[in-house]
Amino acid sequence: MDRYTIHPEIDQDSAPYWKSLSEHAAKMQKCEICGEFRFPPAPTCYHCGKAGGNWETISGKGKIYSWIVVHHPVDKRLAEEVPFIVALVKLREGSRVVGRLIGCNNDEIKAGLQVRAVYDDVDSELTLLNFEIDI
Ligand SMILES: [Zn+2]
Repeated sequence: MDRYTIHPEIDQDSAPYWKSLSEHAAKMQKCEICGEFRFPPAPTCYHCGKAGGNWETISGKGKIYSWIVVHHPVDKRLAEEVPFIVALVKLREGSRVVGRLIGCNNDEIKAGLQVRAVYDDVDSELTLLNFEIDI
């Protein structure tokens, strides 16, 4: 049985992102014109509006921008994992991404905390980008 009943819809724009997570080397789109990274994946740059861009491996490092503590599991199969932290991480590359913060107590978390990527191989088709404190 899968850990999660809901998988993200992987489309043409996001397929390279999900593939990079399965390889444990997260990539994001970088605009060829303005040089900004963008997330979520999209055919055009959020910053300058130009189409295209290259997929580049990111550092996986960033800082906690915000977070929530989940007490009620959205999926019943997460019932034994609550409470857990879902963090909004501002990556060194500038984009913000959401992921679970692993191995951190609720009273330890604070804005600006340094984190690094960890990869959660949910099943053969899905790897999620999560984070842990980067000491
Ligand atoms: Zn741009």
